[in-house]
Amino acid sequence: MWNGKKKALTFSYDDGNFQDIKLIDIFNKYGMKATFNLNSGLMNDKGDWVTTQGRTVRRLRTDNIAEIYKGHEVAVHCATHPHIIDMPEEELRREILDDKAALEKLFDCKINGMAYPYGEVSPEIMRITGECGIKFSRTCWDLHGFQPQTDLLMFRATCHHNYEKLWELVDEFLAYDGDEPIYFCLWGHSYEFDIHENWQLIEEFCRKLSDSNDIFYGTNSEVLLEQQL
Ligand SMILES: [Zn+2]
Repeated sequence: MWNGKKKALTFSYDDGNFQDIKLIDIFNKYGMKATFNLNSGLMNDKGDWVTTQGRTVRRLRTDNIAEIYKGHEVAVHCATHPHIIDMPEEELRREILDDKAALEKLFDCKINGMAYPYGEVSPEIMRITGECGIKFSRTCWDLHGFQPQTDLLMFRATCHHNYEKLWELVDEFLAYDGDEPIYFCLWGHSYEFDIHENWQLIEEFCRKLSDSNDIFYGTNSEVLLEQQL
């Protein structure tokens, strides 16, 4: 339970693109709290890329960054967004620890969480991640439901925002009145709303789930680590 509530809502958004500014405006408008997984080594020209549709996706620079994410949580996504399957252990450790240290300095806070770049994970990666002081790390293997997590170092979100049965899950979540606490974790990348021209989807999702007395709105850390029985 969270503050006596049996339901919680949280968001996990990756890569730290400029569109996060617009997304945060929407989250703030509806009283939502999110966790943003950032690559501290790509907050420069190296981090920008062009989509197959020819659209340039730009990452936020370090200027003013603590102000932009104020009120939300930031978490590790590895310094340079590498493929980490089969990466030598020392290199992976450096990617995680460098990102964690840089973010802790930029945001003047302690970092608990992470999202695996490209969702790549293995028992070995989980072990190294835990040894680096990370308490939870998100995969891309979505639950598509509200089952409990088996291991927070293989944290599974409820679904991506483009999941075709998103609204069925929303209705199931709103109607839930069971004894077990459950939470909804939505994930994605904010630039996808520009590419798919579907900003109205996240606005509608937040509107529909906002202002509910039986839902706790928290960051990933608040929902995953501060749950009380
Ligand atoms: Zn990513």
